[in-house]
Amino acid sequence: MELIDGKKVAVTIKQEIAAEVKRMLDQGEKAPHLAAILVGEDPASQTYVNSKAKACKEVGFISSNYNFPEDVSEEELLKTVEFINNDDDIDGLIVQLPLPDHIDNQKIIQHIRPEKDVDGFHPVNVGRMTIGLPSYVSATPYGILELIMRSRIETKGKNCVILGRSNIVGKPMSILMARNEEPGNATVTVCHSKTKNLKEITSKADILIVAIGKPEFVTEDMVKDNAVVIDVGIHRVKSDKTKSGFRLIGDVKFDEVSPKASHITPVPGGVGPMTIVSLLMNTLKASKKEIYA
Ligand code: NAP
Repeated sequence: MELIDGKKVAVTIKQEIAAEVKRMLDQGEKAPHLAAILVGEDPASQTYVNSKAKACKEVGFISSNYNFPEDVSEEELLKTVEFINNDDDIDGLIVQLPLPDHIDNQKIIQHIRPEKDVDGFHPVNVGRMTIGLPSYVSATPYGILELIMRSRIETKGKNCVILGRSNIVGKPMSILMARNEEPGNATVTVCHSKTKNLKEITSKADILIVAIGKPEFVTEDMVKDNAVVIDVGIHRVKSDKTKSGFRLIGDVKFDEVSPKASHITPVPGGVGPMTIVSLLMNTLKASKKEIYA
């Protein structure tokens, strides 16, 4: 069994990005600039936005945060998006989701210029990805593709089963794994809460990607020998073995499944560390105008 070390891959990619930023600065170009809009004081959202700002600093990007109170109006957010859309110095914009109930998430996302939508959530980017045009791919699926590619996992002609069909993970992953490119070219089955005979389907998977949000749902009997297992789930559970009193687990029962797998991502340290790095890769592409020339 080979552990897919997302933490290590993320460090390598950050080093590659930092080297590219240095080269750009040496040639008199400006550093990539990522802006983030954060509404309210949800601690998890604040942590995410702070980690993104920290990662930007590590690789030499400029980052700016636009913070608003919980009761900000939709109109004010739209105006801020408009302002950032028109600021040539800013390459990428992310809006930390979810937004409060009185704000229409889709309306805000669709107001971002697709050229600056480095989260890849704008329907134009989702559509372009679907028909194989250059696009920003959202962070988690992009990170998974990088892990598969850098672990030299062959996908062509393989049976890939995806558990979960969310807009941010399962659905885009299913399109990317079936695209006519490497990684891709797999035969993809998408499973969800209405799927019958789940075990029968998962146990035929050469590559099993799990994003269902159910702690340790996938057990040894659901996995084929020598399968590649990608665990997207993250759950914080109580533990008397750690100082904090908590530990993180995934959607896969790691201890049981790992001896059977040819490759597996751990939780933590697998898919998780790749998400911020994917956002950095997209911001670099935005600043170099690689997607929309
Ligand atoms: P989600 O929105 O929570 O949706 C879960 C999906 O799983 C749905 O499509 C649902 O089916 C399906 N599902 C639920 N129970 C099922 C069952 N018993 N059998 C088969 N399918 C079932 O999904 P998500 O946002 O992709 O999140 C999934 C997990 O990944 C969560 O733990 C989340 O915290 C984690 N996550 C991690 C990262 C990261 O960076 N590592 C990023 C994103 C998400 P229906 O569509 O029929 O309801």
